[in-house]
Amino acid sequence: MINKQRLLDDIEALATFTDQTPGVTRLSFTQNEQKAKQYLKDQALVSDLIVREDAVGNLYMRYEQHDDTLKTVLIGSHIDSVIHGGKYDGALGVLTGLELLRTFKANQQTLPFHLEVVAFTDEEGARFKTGMIGSRAAIGQLEKQELEATDMNGLSLEQAMVLEGYQPERMQEVQLNPDEYLAYLEVHIEQGKVLEKQALPVGVVAGIVGLRWYEIMVTGEAGHAGATPMADRTDPLIAASRFMLELDEWVRTIPDAVLTFGQIKVDPGSINVIPEAVTFSVDARALDEETLIALETRIEQAMVRLEEKTGVKVKRTPLDIAPPVKMDERVMALLSSAIEQSGFKATTLSSGAGHDAMHMASVMPSGLLFVRTKDGHSHRPDETIADEDVVTAAEVLYQAVQSLDPETFS
Ligand SMILES: [Zn+2]
Repeated sequence: MINKQRLLDDIEALATFTDQTPGVTRLSFTQNEQKAKQYLKDQALVSDLIVREDAVGNLYMRYEQHDDTLKTVLIGSHIDSVIHGGKYDGALGVLTGLELLRTFKANQQTLPFHLEVVAFTDEEGARFKTGMIGSRAAIGQLEKQELEATDMNGLSLEQAMVLEGYQPERMQEVQLNPDEYLAYLEVHIEQGKVLEKQALPVGVVAGIVGLRWYEIMVTGEAGHAGATPMADRTDPLIAASRFMLELDEWVRTIPDAVLTFGQIKVDPGSINVIPEAVTFSVDARALDEETLIALETRIEQAMVRLEEKTGVKVKRTPLDIAPPVKMDERVMALLSSAIEQSGFKATTLSSGAGHDAMHMASVMPSGLLFVRTKDGHSHRPDETIADEDVVTAAEVLYQAVQSLDPETFS
């Protein structure tokens, strides 16, 4: 069995490597990030595990079997944080993995695969505004020009890497060979309230939602706020409001879909003028591509109706698009049965945020286990997971690794 107290102590210890309090501020390629990595290396070495760090700072710890022909199961997450973040986001996944490695190694347990844990470089993107650097480099999807991104002091990602002794010019060499890997597993704090509402400590992520961003401009007719009777108005702000209310009401009936209108600009924006135009943003997310298409169709239909009903003109401009990423069904089944064996109901949920698992999923069977977040609070100092939930997550992962049959993934 895993050593529960050692895992809980590690979480507290890692949280002390922070630039500021309250909470954890551990940006990539900083002294505190280096100290946190050194802590992990020390823990791994004292347990007689193999440690290596690649050219962009991905830190690997490994329990190797005496058989060169075996493949590897990779467990990972990240140890960088946002500014004033919490102590579980990322760290939980790496430390749970480390605890498993130590347990298997101490028991000299024979596994039908090598077991490796990775702390990926800069998942959050808090310093250079470009995230998931390590996992994207590991799958060969980090572009060279991204190294030119700068932090608030004008230092580039490339310079920051070099200052900490890494070799960004050897970025290509860090790419993993998917043929050598069986699967990727990640434990991560949920950062939402789905599990809390269901009173469950952990859940299996079915996928990471895709998104479509649009800008919508509604044009009406400006007029004097006092001299224009209500019946004579073509008010784009009132029309836009109807549009938002209609879509908000509709999307609530669609599972795993969300719509947000986060920005709005009113022209000319004067207290005594009926607006001439309103421009607002739409952030649409869903777990299925079909649902995203349905959202887009519904938006277009609502635009046409709005023009017919209110006389405004509506224009939609696409801004950004990201496809949903499904987790591997075999890994999901493995995690679900591990949850059931631990005595809990196995539930599935979607992830509204991106994680390293989303990139690993493009090259190997990947799975993500979410752990209940108190009040859904994350990316803030009071981010909390109950100790017993941390332990449950680690035990579920331990169970999943024990039951993982290489045949299922070959
Ligand atoms: Zn994270």
